[in-house]
Amino acid sequence: MRISLTDHCNLRCVYCMPLDDLHFARKEELLTAPEIETVVRAAVSVGFRKFRLTGGEPTLRPDLLEIVGRLGEVEGVGDLALTTNALLMPKLARPLKDAGLNRINIHLDSLNPKTVERQMRWGTFDQIWRGIMAAEEAGLVPIKLNAVVTAGYNETDVVDLARLTLDRDWHVRFIELMPLGGGECATLSVQRYVSNIETRRRIEAEIGPLTALSSSYISDEARNFQLPNARGVIGFISPVSEPYCGTCNRMRLTADGKFHLCLLNDDELDVRKALRDYSSDGITRVARILERAVAMKPTGHHLLDGRSTRERSMFQIGG
Ligand code: SAM
Ligand code: SF4
Repeated sequence: MRISLTDHCNLRCVYCMPLDDLHFARKEELLTAPEIETVVRAAVSVGFRKFRLTGGEPTLRPDLLEIVGRLGEVEGVGDLALTTNALLMPKLARPLKDAGLNRINIHLDSLNPKTVERQMRWGTFDQIWRGIMAAEEAGLVPIKLNAVVTAGYNETDVVDLARLTLDRDWHVRFIELMPLGGGECATLSVQRYVSNIETRRRIEAEIGPLTALSSSYISDEARNFQLPNARGVIGFISPVSEPYCGTCNRMRLTADGKFHLCLLNDDELDVRKALRDYSSDGITRVARILERAVAMKPTGHHLLDGRSTRERSMFQIGG
């Protein structure tokens, strides 16, 4: 289950958040820390084991440590991870580890500071790199880096990112652009799309052949590979060129308390209302909604027919 904690962010990546005309959820619409804990207890009761906190930028949530602490203590939570742009990790990595966080995925589109400035806007490569170092030092490992490959921005920088795996035991994953929300970021995501077939070809041409690794679990969204004699892993997340909808077992909880059934679809079920309309037995009520949400998950996306979610953008769901 991917749990979005906020729709705010301290970056403005070109394919995710426009610079103007942004609308955010009101504070009272966001699920509180105890409400999120109730949803997680319900999820565990119906079989969920892996949880990931995301956003927007989850580290902007003032009660992040409280949320991690609460979820880390729920019996049955097998894995608690965070997806972040790492800007605030120098301050937060150690407290997050101490609060019970297991792992971290860090978003970094390039090792070239100029590309980072153009593509992720507002933040710098040095800030993100310092965040990665702090996370590794705190033991939030294995470090997984996510890069969204975008034509005209970082499509050739993938080679240097892939090289990181030669002497570091990191996972470097390349994500294909997806159009969400119907606005300017969706348009850019269509126009600047780069297939992972091309990204893989580019890496192999420069560094050498990739050897496929077997998946450790069937619902892994990444196809994993290794360069000759590398310590780390290269992953390709290819929702457009190689959809993995058939094995997708993810459920997404938006920051304003909806189960969003598929990243690339608008269907949602309201959880917040069930949490707030009654004063007791929230866990059972949410568990029943969650079972319905799982049963109603669409069997696949319709990107190739030009259809995607129109109601929400990526920062409003959580990736
Ligand atoms: N702010 C955090 C971060 O960037 O990692 C967490 C939220 S962000 C929405 C989660 C992931 O979505 C990031 O890895 C980002 O690269 C990815 N993402 C955002 N917009 C995307 C798009 N249009 N297509 C594909 N991936 C996208
Ligand atoms: Fe913020 Fe993550 Fe979206 Fe970039 S991808 S704007 S860091 S939420």
